Amino acid sequence: MAKATQAIPATMKGVILPGNSTVEFRDFPVPEPGPGQVLVRMKASSICGSDIRAIYRQHVGKGPEGYQPGMIAGHEPSGQIVKVGPNGKRYKAGDRVVIYHISGCGCCDDCKHGYMISCTSPHRAAYGWQRHGGHAAYLLAEENTCVRLPDSLTYTDGALCACGFGTCYEALTRIRVCGADRLLVTGLGPVGLAAAMLGRALGATLVIGTDVSAGRLKVARDLGLVDHALPADDKALGRIKDLTGARGCEATIDCSGAPAGRLLALQATRQWGRCVFVGEGNKVEFDVSPVLIHPQITLYGSWVTSLKHLEELVERLDRWGIHPEKTVTHRLPLEKAAEAYDLADKGQTGKVVVCFDEELK
Ligand SMILES: [Zn+2]
Ligand SMILES: [Zn+2]
Repeated sequence: MAKATQAIPATMKGVILPGNSTVEFRDFPVPEPGPGQVLVRMKASSICGSDIRAIYRQHVGKGPEGYQPGMIAGHEPSGQIVKVGPNGKRYKAGDRVVIYHISGCGCCDDCKHGYMISCTSPHRAAYGWQRHGGHAAYLLAEENTCVRLPDSLTYTDGALCACGFGTCYEALTRIRVCGADRLLVTGLGPVGLAAAMLGRALGATLVIGTDVSAGRLKVARDLGLVDHALPADDKALGRIKDLTGARGCEATIDCSGAPAGRLLALQATRQWGRCVFVGEGNKVEFDVSPVLIHPQITLYGSWVTSLKHLEELVERLDRWGIHPEKTVTHRLPLEKAAEAYDLADKGQTGKVVVCFDEELK
């Protein structure tokens, strides 16, 4: 709490991503919250795969993934409110929050249902993409994108929910993962690790993960998040069948975004089972009749989550007593953001987080 009363400086260093796999620091004024806004002292701001895929290497994102050059990066922010704009409705200085990473127009059907991710208004702006994000000491946030962080969760837990864990929670609840299911996760990067952790919490009795990277298989095994971590090679389907009485898994989720990962998820889905794709980019090609139609499989696409489900997720994490930060393998201060992005880009680690103050442990 002490930090909330500390003097707020006039300027701050912010990280921008110019492309070509580099990180640059620039000076920015610390913003003043207007009506409906709050100023948040950043505590944890994690790196998401989308930052690497669409911004860090090159600016390839379009539309909602179009990075506005010069914006402070970071779309998984969590911190403590230090200042509330005029006529604030819900929060006060000292409150701990996670920030849903898109500010929508607030007026369209998608926004009204909390899916600001799907808002198509020109007023829509994602933190770290079209408006300043969390890789700086302070973030100007819309009050209606803040979600209160339960006391039992750390700021790092909160940051991880802002995109990655929120995305997995949405996808797993959409395919109704429960205690009747065995779950396959293809791709064990940070999103895959999140899917494994949440799938178990939702009741899945067996969790199998696959990845092409030996480093990521090791991270998943060492963290104990999967019952079996299998190399994603041509033997993977056979091994999954062996582990499931030749039936496959009732629920499958692709977090790899790779054509082979998607195909494996579909092929390893049990007859009448449910499969969801959350890994972004790329394509997939498969024989529709034997892979999808004849096995009576339901296939879903799922993009990020809603404000309501983000609130629901943090409430459930509190009750379950589990911590997303378990998937973090690297915490770095803002000054080492270049190193943090380089680590995340190499794809051999768990989650990489830029941390501030007490989160830098
Ligand atoms: Zn909208
Ligand atoms: Zn993301």
